[in-house]
Amino acid sequence: MNCKYCQKRDYLLENEFAYAKFDTNPTTPGHMLIVPKRHVTDYNYLTEQEKEAMHQLVDMSKDALAGIYNPSDYNLSMNVCEANGQAEHLYFNLIPKYAEAQNTNTEIA
Ligand SMILES: [Zn+2]
Repeated sequence: MNCKYCQKRDYLLENEFAYAKFDTNPTTPGHMLIVPKRHVTDYNYLTEQEKEAMHQLVDMSKDALAGIYNPSDYNLSMNVCEANGQAEHLYFNLIPKYAEAQNTNTEIA
């Protein structure tokens, strides 16, 4: 299977069942992907151990990002999708948000 997420390249953090790396096309600086090491295509297919490993890496990544980028907020999302008619390897997006970007929104006082 030619799956780029199974190849585990350029990762930053890992534990027994998952790893974390920077997105090569980041939405914001520090955008990280949390990826199970096994080729799993949906959250429901993860074992309890894998879920725990994924969430542990969310914590570790968030700590790492706080030290490097000091974001004001984070978005955590799950990527479950199909590409070329095949289910893709599941991953989480951990996207840091920055106070500057929020200032572009008009706030009602
Ligand atoms: Zn895969």
